[in-house]
Order: sequence, then structure tokens, then C-alpha cells
Amino acid sequence: MKIAEVSPEIIPYAKTGGLADVVGTLPLYLEKAGHEVSIFMPFYKSVKNSGIDIKLLDTTFDIPIGDTEHTVTLWKSIHHSSKNIVIYFIQRDEYFDRDSLYGTEFGDYQDNAERFIFFSRAVIEAIKRLVLPIDIIHCHDWQTALIPIYLKTLFAEDEKLSSIKTVLTIHNLAYQGMFRQEEMKLTGLDMSLFNCKNLEHWNNINFLKGGIVFADIVTTVSKKYAEEIRTIEFGCGLEGVIEEHEEKLYGIINGVDYTEWSPDKDDLISHQFSIEDIKGKAQCKKHLQNELDLPQTEAPLLGMISRLAEQKGVDLLIVIMDELMKRDLQLVILGIGDEKYHQMLKEFTPKYSEKLSVNIMFDNKMAHQIEAGADIFLMPSKYEPCGLNQMYSLKYGTIPIVRETGGLADTIIDANDENLKNRTATGFTMKGYFAAELLHAIDRALDLYKLETPWKALRENAMKQDWSWEKSTNQYIELFKSILK
Ligand code: ADP
Repeated sequence: MKIAEVSPEIIPYAKTGGLADVVGTLPLYLEKAGHEVSIFMPFYKSVKNSGIDIKLLDTTFDIPIGDTEHTVTLWKSIHHSSKNIVIYFIQRDEYFDRDSLYGTEFGDYQDNAERFIFFSRAVIEAIKRLVLPIDIIHCHDWQTALIPIYLKTLFAEDEKLSSIKTVLTIHNLAYQGMFRQEEMKLTGLDMSLFNCKNLEHWNNINFLKGGIVFADIVTTVSKKYAEEIRTIEFGCGLEGVIEEHEEKLYGIINGVDYTEWSPDKDDLISHQFSIEDIKGKAQCKKHLQNELDLPQTEAPLLGMISRLAEQKGVDLLIVIMDELMKRDLQLVILGIGDEKYHQMLKEFTPKYSEKLSVNIMFDNKMAHQIEAGADIFLMPSKYEPCGLNQMYSLKYGTIPIVRETGGLADTIIDANDENLKNRTATGFTMKGYFAAELLHAIDRALDLYKLETPWKALRENAMKQDWSWEKSTNQYIELFKSILK
């Protein structure tokens, strides 16, 4: 099959979350399985500044946005891990030559609808102009969700494009691309689509909803999340449309790129280690404590790496912080996001300078060092479509404490007595979204940590888990094949 992966972010060019990791890695496994893959993303400032060799193509063309024509310039580079995978960049500096991908600390960019209408139309037009024989376009998130709609409407009669099938993967249903009705005219789509069965959602235009309606297949990033989003609690207002299209909804868990995230070959950590040779982990802990100006104690070191958004359970942590700091432990937080969480977390640091390190930034190297040096990882998310950090934590023997939701529920097995005895446990789970439950889960972990042998067994079992991409890639391939039949 010939597959085009289309995403608003891809490592190493642009990343705000797990989506970038997924779209950077999945193509390699599709290729390994014998398929031809190309990738499309916007030409952001970060692409320009990446230092990677990117070539200008001599194909330019215009895209109508409302009443105006806008010129598209195309660039291409080769995937950093495979010379057969071409990445195409859609350039228009007016839209993408900015410091951030989607907005500033004060909110989303005002022209996000226009930016991603432009991107989506430009991708389709580029496929046509470059005469790429694509079978499947695999779209990711609301920023690309107009593509299935365009293919089934404006381009339905186009002989080069009409046979292409579309798959839309939802990485987080909370982000829908919802805009004022007036933006509809920028799309070039017929106003008759502005109704509640198609793109309209409570008088607004909703890109993701339209994508769900028009895509041939919709996937999300874990089985559990695929079930959850049919409910009012997790459906973010789209549970109705999801229920209506449930026959084409599937959950496929994301895989981990173990070439980047394995303690035995990680160049970003101070000492490499493995199950057989674990002593490097203690050295990584010392190194991390040193880097963070924390005293070098034997006390358990808890880590959290997260976008600081409501979804991630940081408010629970804030509620229990004073109580937690009475325990014999240290806590390192690495995250960036909502300003209110930055403030609240920073307020704790003068009080607990010996125990708490709050790092408000995005720092990939520090993320690796926390995974390697911490003993326990906190991920008490309110909801979590898939989550990658809990899977990274397993491989680094950093026992995750998670809430039983979405991908966290699908990947972590609670260390209750029975699971410890039969050696299936990999972490600690909590059911409800309550601060007291988080504290209880942490206390359970701290208690077990004191017992050397069972903790070692738990850590070894965690490190043995394999969430590599092969299985999930095969599931995507089966779905792709099913719609081409
Ligand atoms: P989400 O996509 O919802 O943000 P995931 O767990 O799926 O959550 O993926 C988050 C990814 O972003 C992980 O690779 C994680 O290490 C990384 N990450 C999140 N915050 C930071 C940060 N402040 N610094 C470095 N990496 C981060």
C-alpha cells in the first residue's frame, strides 16, 4: 500500500506532545512491513531552524481560502531513520513561521482555522500535483480532519484523488478545532454541510466532528479510550456523533520507539542500565539529584513529566502536596502548560527546597534523565487517550502510578497482592479522580518500595514489558487493507 501520513507535528521537527512521537515512528514500521510511506506537515519556524537538510521543490500552486488565492511552496526532506520515507513540508510563512505551533501562553492563534484549512487543502493539492499514487491518507487530529471531508466533497470527482481512502486518528478528543460559523466560508465547502449531522456543532464549525463523519475509518489511541469516548464523561460533547459512527471506530494503542527510549542504549542519560545490569539506575538517580540540586538521599524519588493541563491530574498533586512532603521522599516535576499551574507549583518550592524540584520548561534530555533516575512515576490523569510516559517508565524500571483510564488502564497492571504473587503487576493504579486516592496509591508504592525483594521483582516485571510498534502497526495495516477491499 501507498500511505500518506498527515500530521500537524512530527519529531524531530515540531513537538508539543505524544502525537509527534507517534507520527515520527509509525511510518518506519509501516515501511518495514513492506509499504510505501510519505509524510506531510507544515513548514514551521522550528522546521527552518532544525538544521536538517531540507530541499525546495519547484512545484508551487495556489489554494483558495475564502475569496483569496494563497500560494503554497513545497519542501522535502528524508526521514532521519529511513531514506525511503519522504517528508513534504507545506510552506506559507504568514501561517507557519511562528514561535509556537498553535498559540502563545495567552491562547490559541486567532487564525488557526485558516491555517489548517490551508494546510489540509494544500496537502491534497500537493498529492495531486506531485502525482503521488496514494491509497490511504492517514490523518491525525483536528488539524487534518478536513481532508476526509474535502476528498468526499470538493474532490469527489477528481480522477487522481477519488479512490483514496481516509483514516482519521484522534489523539485527544478534547481538542476539536471548533470555530465560529463565519470561518465556514474559508473552507470552500458548501454551506449545506453546516448542519448538525456534518460539520456544525452548537452553531460552530467543528473540524473533528466533520472528520469523524466523513473518514472511512476513525481510530483512537487505545481500546479503553475508544470505549470511553462514547460516554458523556469522556465524549467532550461528541459522544453522540461517535455513537452514530461506532461501526467504523477502532482503538489501537500507540507503540514506543525503543530506539529512543531504552535505558541500555539511551545517550541522554548519565549511566546506561538494563535488567541484568541495574546498577546504572542508582547512578542516574544520583546524577539527577545533583543536576536538580536535591540532596543525595536514598529516599524514593518520584517523577512527573507532563503538559501542565487539567487533563493530567496536576490539580490532584497540588491538593496533596503538603501532605506528600511530610513523607520521606523527593519529587521532581518537569512540565509546561497552563500558567495557573506554573504559579501554584512554583509557590511550593521555597517551602520544600530539599525535597521538591519544579522545572517549568520543555526539555527532552531532562525527560530522559527523570525516566532513568526516578524510582516512581506519577501519571494520575483525569483522562488519557494513550499516554506514552507510563510505557517509557516501565522500560526504565520507574514504577508508574496511574489512574485507570484510557491507555493507562490498557498498559498498567496494579500491584495488588494477587498480581504481585503471580508476577503480572507493573505499577499502581487508582480508580477515582480524587486527591485522597492519589495519596493512597503513592502510599502503597512507598510501602512496597521499603521491601527490597518484592520491589525488585515488580521493577523487573515492568522492565520486561514490550509495547513496541510491531503489533499496533499490524492492526493499522489490517484496517487500511479492509477499506481498500
Ligand atoms: P500528551 O501527548 O497528552 O502530551 P503523552 O504521554 O502521550 O501525552 O506524550 C507526552 C510526550 O511529551 C512524551 O514523549 C513526554 O516525554 C513529552 N513531554 C511532555 N512534557 C514534556 C516536557 N516538559 N519536557 C520534555 N518532554 C515532555
